[in-house]
Amino acid sequence: PTIGELVRAGERSFSFEFFPPKDAAGEEQLWTAVGELQAYEPTFVSVTYGAGGSTRDRTIAMTGRIARETSLRVMGHLTCVGHTRAELLEVLQAYADAGVHDVLALRGDPADGPSAPWTPTEGGFHHAVELVELARSFDGGSGRFGVGVAAFPEKHPGSATVDDDARVLAAKAAAGAEFAVTQLFFRPEDYFGLVERTAAAGAPDLPILPGIMPITNLGSVRRMAELSGTEVPPEVLARFDGLSDPADVRRTGIELASQLCADLLAAGAPGLHFYTLNRSRATREIFEALRIGV
Ligand code: FAD
Repeated sequence: PTIGELVRAGERSFSFEFFPPKDAAGEEQLWTAVGELQAYEPTFVSVTYGAGGSTRDRTIAMTGRIARETSLRVMGHLTCVGHTRAELLEVLQAYADAGVHDVLALRGDPADGPSAPWTPTEGGFHHAVELVELARSFDGGSGRFGVGVAAFPEKHPGSATVDDDARVLAAKAAAGAEFAVTQLFFRPEDYFGLVERTAAAGAPDLPILPGIMPITNLGSVRRMAELSGTEVPPEVLARFDGLSDPADVRRTGIELASQLCADLLAAGAPGLHFYTLNRSRATREIFEALRIGV
């Protein structure tokens, strides 16, 4: 089965996202996190694809290593940035050769960030939906690919309205995307608003996995939020007022994320997708708070 089929078939999906490490020390750290999180038997794990395809080889190598050396199901991210259609086919083939048969099909961002104007590569794609079509029609000699896509609970910085985002997501589902993973967000209502709009736009059956980024350090979360065009809501920031001890910030961040996860699952989210930043501790603490054991 594809990851999308596993997500649909299971009662709840749990998944962990990693980024490709830069050096041997980073790989060691990632590998430790993979080992520790494996015990939770996630539905899948995923590895991001660097801006402009900068981590292409490392992403393929890392997903390949996970596929070979663990029992985890692994998805490789793939972006259109800087690639022609022919190059995208090559990357899909490289994934297939590495034993990876699921991709998260993304447009990616311009080098100047998500709010900068987007210019497609000549011979490449304008929108993620085209990559969805390509990946769904690709057969690397080992059967068809599973395809997931990105979704945005708050507006994507390049979209005029949240309804436009929902229409884009429904179009990706119509093109063959089997599930979506959201950008980070902090309010359950932002997530459930997206779910409702997507259903209204014609894709009521698309499972949308909420992407969870626990706050363990205020500075870095503000930066991540800025990079993704998300805002850290004032009521969330207020919870950190007056906290100067990093341990208190961390504890509060884990509490907030655990509450968000509990609220999402209680109201029917099909699972949780954790942005781990290649560490396992925050995710383990949230699982403990949710009383999800190994
Ligand atoms: P699209 O679906 O193409 O949408 C981009 C913009 O174009 C939106 O404003 C949309 O409304 C508009 N649009 C789309 N289709 C049409 C159309 N047919 N007509 C008119 N307008 C349209 N980036 C990386 O570089 N590497 C990663 O590994 C990575 N992983 C991610 C994982 C997740 C879960 C998420 C949520 C994001 C990830 N990103 C990653 C970031 C992502 O590349 C950016 O958010 C990017 O700006 C949008 O990608 P998309 O696939 O949603 O693009």
